[in-house]
Amino acid sequence: MITLTLKPGRERSLRRRHPWIFANALDDPRGHAPASGDTVTVAGHDGEVYGQGAYSPASQLRVRMWHFQPGVDVDRDFFAARLAAAGRLRERVLGADIDGYRLVNAESDGLPGLIIDRYGQVLVCQFLSAGPERWRDTLVALLVETFPGCSVYERSDVDIRKREALAPRSGLLAGPELPETVSIREHDWVFRVDPRQGQKTGFYLDQRDSRRALAAYCDGAEVLNAFSYTGGFAVAALAGGARQVSNLDSSAGALRLGTVNLAENGLDPARVENLQGDAFRLLRQCRQQGRRFDVVVLDPPKFMEHKAQLKRASRGYKDINLQAFGLLRPGGLLFTFSCSGLLEPALFQKIVADAALDAGRAARIVARLGQAADHPTLLAFPEGQYLKGLVVQVA
Ligand code: SAH
Repeated sequence: MITLTLKPGRERSLRRRHPWIFANALDDPRGHAPASGDTVTVAGHDGEVYGQGAYSPASQLRVRMWHFQPGVDVDRDFFAARLAAAGRLRERVLGADIDGYRLVNAESDGLPGLIIDRYGQVLVCQFLSAGPERWRDTLVALLVETFPGCSVYERSDVDIRKREALAPRSGLLAGPELPETVSIREHDWVFRVDPRQGQKTGFYLDQRDSRRALAAYCDGAEVLNAFSYTGGFAVAALAGGARQVSNLDSSAGALRLGTVNLAENGLDPARVENLQGDAFRLLRQCRQQGRRFDVVVLDPPKFMEHKAQLKRASRGYKDINLQAFGLLRPGGLLFTFSCSGLLEPALFQKIVADAALDAGRAARIVARLGQAADHPTLLAFPEGQYLKGLVVQVA
């Protein structure tokens, strides 16, 4: 096995067990460059061994650490143990009334670059970097062994693989062919998920706790659910007694599945209106039409993938929040989210505060929301906490 040496003074983040090593922190491996996905040993300039990681020659993020335990091998047993630990955490934090959850949350489960979401009998995997790509067959075999009879489906059709020089890929890896949609249970609710075409791996499992929080505030409310996707928040709002919900999304397919989700939960589709189109335009249009709501949900897609996009992303968040504040009745509640990991919670809060100011609305935070417990954040890897939400009441 090849040992890569850190440049002098670059050990600090490894000492803190941060799993990422950037190319510029490493000495040139010269003639001994490892291949993509190879396991490498990482040592300090003084020869102290820190652990092992997966090598990714195409990416600036050159090594993702598998472990920090000198002497441990990265092999089938290693992955079996990590998967088992991930499973045990979910058993502890999720109730028996949940069968759709994130089984593996990448770095935060000690498996950098690997996402596994479970939808009942279907496991959806994303191999996001060179390490898990190399161990793909092993990982799939372990899943088949642990979850006999399950389908294992790959959704590695994501842009970030480009940074690893990996082509997009999706399809069935093991088990029976998938039905068109898969049903999952979440507390008293049922959601239909499309693992083949849906966003991410098919469903926003990370918003589970926020759906419950929303339900508690919706009795008798007229709700605008912007960036509604397949209507998870609409189901929660109606179940919580909302009078009327307007789903807004650019995807006609997502809105259609949203309507299916109403029926699945025995909710009256007459209480739901679908607005298809661009949220930036439609939120303005609602304002111009003088429409008002008691609750507005804003759950946009990630507005930034790189630090360089911070300005543009901030403008985007400011704009939709400004529009939303203008749509709220006095005393109304805004549920506003950002899933951009690169946007710090404090900055997000400031953007929302600026939007309230510009909208001329006095407002206060009544609750803070975030990703559910099956999306844990490794303390050594604060980047893992990407989802932040504020519940804000306007005067
Ligand atoms: N709130 C959803 C998840 C939202 S994901 C849930 O809880 O399940 C973001 C959604 O925004 C996607 O459904 C996507 O289709 C939609 N979207 C992206 N850009 C948009 C735009 N400019 N206008 C309206 N919808 C948009």
